[in-house]
Amino acid sequence: MTPVIALVGRPNVGKSTLFNRLTRSRDALVADFPGLTRDRKYGNGQLGDKVYTVIDTGGISGDEQGIDAAMAEQSLTAIDEADIVLFMVDGRAGVMPADQAIANHLRVNQKKTWLVVNKTDGLDELTATADFFSLGLGEPHPIAAAHGRNVTALIDEVLSPFPERDPLAGPAGSHPGVHIGVIGRPNVGKSTLVNRMLGEDRVVVFDEAGTTRDAIEIPFERRGKPYVLVDTAGIRRRKNVSLIAEKFSIIKTLDAIKECHVAIMVLDARSGLVEQDLHLLDYVLSSGRALVLAVNKWDGLEQEAREKMRADIKRRLGFADYADLHFISALHGTGVGDLYKSVDKAFDSANSHWSTNRLTTILQDAVSEHQPPMINGRRIKLRMAHQGGSNPPIIVVHGNQTSSLPEAYKRYLTNTFRKVLKVKGTPIRFEFRSGD
Ligand code: GDP
Ligand code: GDP
Repeated sequence: MTPVIALVGRPNVGKSTLFNRLTRSRDALVADFPGLTRDRKYGNGQLGDKVYTVIDTGGISGDEQGIDAAMAEQSLTAIDEADIVLFMVDGRAGVMPADQAIANHLRVNQKKTWLVVNKTDGLDELTATADFFSLGLGEPHPIAAAHGRNVTALIDEVLSPFPERDPLAGPAGSHPGVHIGVIGRPNVGKSTLVNRMLGEDRVVVFDEAGTTRDAIEIPFERRGKPYVLVDTAGIRRRKNVSLIAEKFSIIKTLDAIKECHVAIMVLDARSGLVEQDLHLLDYVLSSGRALVLAVNKWDGLEQEAREKMRADIKRRLGFADYADLHFISALHGTGVGDLYKSVDKAFDSANSHWSTNRLTTILQDAVSEHQPPMINGRRIKLRMAHQGGSNPPIIVVHGNQTSSLPEAYKRYLTNTFRKVLKVKGTPIRFEFRSGD
């Protein structure tokens, strides 16, 4: 599993600044979709061949009633979900009462904790860190998040116990077949769907007890074709769905997204779309993972409710319109078989290879159909295109002044390539290179 680093500390010590620096890699999960509120922010980062996930917590001010109340909410959850805690303090402010309170909590907590003294730019490191020994968390590590001072060295050290993993390798497992992750908030019907897809008890299930973050792979066949179900949240084990409630964890969802080739995101037609659905979808989208949308509990739904759900999806999930949309009943099995066609198509699209010749022809046709605008009296030129990667497909476009290309034109190119190449179920990423 990918190591998870939680950033905790008082407000204003520089957590967001460090978060932004740590998640600045190409694979960063952080994407801004307007209207999403979040108390915790999750992002992916990469150092050398090591990938990691970072959780930024809002911050613990000293004003709450007791540290438990203050930490109870999001910070405690973040610490729970993490493998490593970076406890940040402010080297300019010195030790504050709230730092002391947080330190007391972390000392009794079993998590591996690093004491990080931020804002040491322009300060003598020894002087800036000396006070913080009193927190009883061992040696303080001086950094300057805003300037990057010591940050790489710190993360390198923090990650040293964790093995390297090629970030582009995809699922770590050894079973052949398309790896499917079923994700969604609690109660939408994931467990029911998974059991339906596996055909109840006909498959051999590798039910390792393991720790809570084991990725469990369940190989199965459908019409002679191998698939693997990736069950990071243990949804298969919850056979008696009414008995055990799922403890929802974004980290497990992120693991599922990372370990699968195609994610099936389940939505609940009865409760309708909620903020958390959009939030999860946001993560799938920014991860670049192939996606199929399944609107579950379609059985027995009134016509009016169906129309409302369709309209809601169209209005609010427009940003995920590359994904096939299915209306299913996991309970009765209606429409479940049809999911496979979309899963296969999404997998094939995500792993397609196209020749430079073909991509350049599509680009040139698109340009002659609809020219890019003039910038400072010179027209933006787009000359050639080649593939820069797959899963998700990356198309690299070479030209002049490409940094001035308007968003609307990029959308036009995306739509054109998508249509001509018949890409379905996966995002396409564009990279623009400029000769000037
Ligand atoms: P958060 O509330 O803990 O997330 O803190 P922010 O990341 O929002 O940072 C709070 C303030 O500290 C901002 O004004 C940052 O620009 C500043 N800051 C963050 N890192 C550094 C640093 O390394 N040096 C200095 N001098 N200021 C910093
Ligand atoms: P999970 O938490 O996402 O794994 O959801 P579950 O599979 O545990 O399902 C939550 C509840 O929704 C259970 O009571 C299921 O019986 C019910 N449910 C699941 N799928 C359907 C469906 O297609 N139609 C209806 N009416 N109920 C469903």
